Amino acid sequence: MSAPTGRTHSGEFEEIAVERGSRSGALMAIAVHSTVLGPALGGARMWHYPDGDHAVADAMRLAEAMTHKAAAAGLDLGGGKGVIATPAEAAPDGRLRRAILLDFGDLVESLEGRYVTAEDVGTSAEDMAVIAERTTHVVGLGSDHGGSGDPSPVTALGVRAAMRACAGHAWGTPDLASRRVTLIGFGHVGSHLAELLAADGAELAITDVNPARRGPAEALGARWIEPVEALAADCDVLAPCALGGLIDAPAAERLRCRVLCGAANNVLADPGVADLLEARGVVYAPDFIANAGGLISVYGDLHRTPHGRAVELAAGIETTIGVVLEEARRRGITSLAAARRRSLARLGSAHREPGRGVHTATGSTQPAGARMRHS
Ligand code: NAD
Repeated sequence: MSAPTGRTHSGEFEEIAVERGSRSGALMAIAVHSTVLGPALGGARMWHYPDGDHAVADAMRLAEAMTHKAAAAGLDLGGGKGVIATPAEAAPDGRLRRAILLDFGDLVESLEGRYVTAEDVGTSAEDMAVIAERTTHVVGLGSDHGGSGDPSPVTALGVRAAMRACAGHAWGTPDLASRRVTLIGFGHVGSHLAELLAADGAELAITDVNPARRGPAEALGARWIEPVEALAADCDVLAPCALGGLIDAPAAERLRCRVLCGAANNVLADPGVADLLEARGVVYAPDFIANAGGLISVYGDLHRTPHGRAVELAAGIETTIGVVLEEARRRGITSLAAARRRSLARLGSAHREPGRGVHTATGSTQPAGARMRHS
């Protein structure tokens, strides 16, 4: 792991903290991209990276995406991300895992609320409870620790809301009854989404690389299809709820859906794919708006608002996606470009507001620049 440890800032990033845990020796990084709209909230990813530079680069890429996700969703949150580079490919467990999580908790605490952590790929609500032994700047705790628990039901509500907006745009009605939906990835979000869509009367085809998911999918009344068939399935809506990067240029050419709307983060292999989708008449719900329900759920934990508020905000994604699609049509741009315009406009107006500085989770505001500590 080669990345130099210490504090720095780079380009648009307010702060990048890289440490080697004193208990565990594991390399960990937190990238704070922006606190212009509020404290930088973003999950802690535990992953095995080829080297430390890859880990830091991942934290930076993901932190920037969180800034846009929060801004576009209208949340008073900035963008940040934590990564923990595991020493071996196998996920650490037992004493080593606990040592890593305590070290990460100390790193979070050292940022004094400018960064708030939550669960992400490789971490769980139980891990957040260990991190909470060292810092208060953590959300996504289980209900036994006063948190809202698994965010995926709220994420699924938001994706369904986005899907309704896309349906309205494509067919003049948001009603999903009898729409043929192909769902890729029947995991946490996918299974909740499938339940909602089944209740709406949609005709579901479901796939997952895990064949054990077939039984529960069929129990919902869905038709099971093989993963290789899914991308080119003839359907009204394709809902990718597995891993990112699924839709590259060749995949975009093969799609036979009218709407592309799912939970997967970074579902387009690169932003240029949005132009191909537009040219093919595919209505695309930008992922960072469609899947914002998870962030909305943990935002509720941060402000201790009732769960019903998160549900309301997730339902509001229907309006947000509707506005984005209309803006794209009016300007003759892709929905992705319209979504980026939306987040940049919100960030731009916040920058122009006098008194905006660095936000912390406790609500104090420091003038921008006051928190830089260089290694
Ligand atoms: P998960 O791991 O619970 O589910 C993913 C499912 O996809 C698994 O069942 C897996 O077997 C399946 N899968 C993986 N590769 C596949 C492939 N090539 N073809 C078919 N199936 C495949 O994950 P999740 O929490 O449901 O998240 C799904 C996606 O949504 C991820 O991209 C995640 O980043 C994103 N997301 C999740 C949340 C949330 O609240 N959980 C919030 C925002 C975004």
